[in-house]
Amino acid sequence: MNSKRFFDPQLLEKYNTNGPRYTSYPTALSFNESFYNDDLIKAVKTSPNTDLSLYIHIPFCHSLCYYCGCNKIVTRHPEKSDDYMFYLIGEITQRQKLFKKHVVRQIHLGGGTPSFLSKQQLSNLMAVLKNHFVLSQDVEIGIEIDPRNLTLDYIDHLANIGFNRLSIGVQDIDPQVQKAINRVQSTELIEQIVNQANKIGFRSVNLDLIYGLPHQTPDRFERTLDKVIQMGVQRISLFSYAHLPERFPAQRKLRDEWLPNAAQKLALMKLAIERFLDAGYMMIGMDHFAKPNDELALAQKRHQLHRNFQGYTTHANCDLLGFGVSAISNIGDCYSQNYKQLADYYQALNESDNAVHKGVKLNLDDQIRGFVISQLMCNFQVDKSQVENLYDINFDSYFQQSLRSLQPFVDDNLVEVDALQIKVKNKARLLIRNICMSFDGYIKNQHIHRYSTVI
Ligand code: SF4
Repeated sequence: MNSKRFFDPQLLEKYNTNGPRYTSYPTALSFNESFYNDDLIKAVKTSPNTDLSLYIHIPFCHSLCYYCGCNKIVTRHPEKSDDYMFYLIGEITQRQKLFKKHVVRQIHLGGGTPSFLSKQQLSNLMAVLKNHFVLSQDVEIGIEIDPRNLTLDYIDHLANIGFNRLSIGVQDIDPQVQKAINRVQSTELIEQIVNQANKIGFRSVNLDLIYGLPHQTPDRFERTLDKVIQMGVQRISLFSYAHLPERFPAQRKLRDEWLPNAAQKLALMKLAIERFLDAGYMMIGMDHFAKPNDELALAQKRHQLHRNFQGYTTHANCDLLGFGVSAISNIGDCYSQNYKQLADYYQALNESDNAVHKGVKLNLDDQIRGFVISQLMCNFQVDKSQVENLYDINFDSYFQQSLRSLQPFVDDNLVEVDALQIKVKNKARLLIRNICMSFDGYIKNQHIHRYSTVI
C-alpha cells in the first residue's frame, strides 16, 4: 500500500469535523431507559445468531492517565476488585442460562485495566466462563494489559489459563509525553512482554498508540514508531487523541499550548501511516494496522471485516454479550448497556439479578442504515443490490436524502456513486466516519460536539 493514497491534506482538513466512531448504529447516545431486561431476553430468543462474543469490563486502574476517556475507577485499593468479582460472576452465572445453545467464538477483557486483577481472580473468572459457556476449539481470548504493574510471570499465567491475544497500551515512549499524560512506563518491559508472549505462543499481540498527545513532535513520535515497528507485533492500533475536557475533567491537566494543532496532528498521523505501510503492515479500516497474513488483513481483502465495540473483528453473525459495569451487549436487533456507576450496578444486581440500564430496539430503518454504515466502515463500499435484496427497498429512493448529502464528497472526488454501488476512494478512507454521517438518521438531532473530531 502506498501511503500517498490516503492523503490529501486540504480535503482532510476541509472535512475534519466531529463525528461518531460508529462502533454501533445508532450510537450509544440514542440508548434510552425504556429498554428493559425483558427486551434483552426477547432479543436472545429471536436472534438468528448462535455464535457469541463475550466482553467483560474490568473498570479499575492503578492511576489516572490524563488523556483517558474510558469508563474507569482509579484506586489504590486492590481489594475493591473482590466485591466487583463477586457481582460480575453473579451476573455471568445468571445470564448464561439463556445461552445454552450458543458457541463462544471470542472473549475479550477490556477496561479500565483488566490486568488490575490478580492471577487468582483471573483464574476464577476463566473457570466460571469455561463452566458456563461452550467455547469453540479456536476461541480467541484476549486481554488489555497495562505494562506498568506487571511481571513476566503474569503473562505466563495468562497463557496457562487460555488467553491467546494480548493488547498492550503503549501510547508513546517519549519521557516528556509520558510525564505530561501521567503514564510513565518502561519501554524495555513492554519489549520483554512482547517477546515473552511470542515465545509462549500467544497468537497475536497488539500495541495501542495515540497521536495528538502533548509535546508530540514528528521527531519524537518517529522514535516511538521505530520502536514499535522493531517489536514486530501482528497488530497496531493508532488512535487520535480526543481532547474533550468539558466531558473528561482529567484532560484539563493537558494544557492547550502543549497540544499539537490540527495541521501538526495530521502530520503525526501521516508519519505513522507512512512508517507502518513501509514496514509492511496493511491498513485495516481507519485506525488499525495488521501484518498481511493476519486474520484482519485477510478478512479485509475478502470484504468480510466486521465492527463491534471492541473495534474491527473477523467474526460475522456473532451476538455480543457484555458483562460488568457499563458493558454493552448487541443481541439480535437490540443494543443494551449496563449501569455505568459501580454503586448502581451492584444495586441492580442485588435487586433484580441483572444490570441492564438502557438500550434500544432497532426498527427497520435502524437496521437498514446500520447495515450500510457497517459496510462503509469495514469494507469502504456498499453494493446497492445487496441492500435492496436484504431489505426489499429501492436503494436510490430510500436513500435520496443521504445521497444528496453525500454529493460534496462525490464532487471532491472522494466517493464514487453509480447505479450499482457506492465506493469510497482510498484518499477518503480517513474520513469514513464523516461519510457515514450522511446515512445516519439521528445525527441532525444530536449535539455533534459530544463526539471527537474525525482526525
Ligand atoms: S488509559 Fe487505561 S490505564 Fe489509563 S486511566 Fe484510562 S483506562 Fe486506566
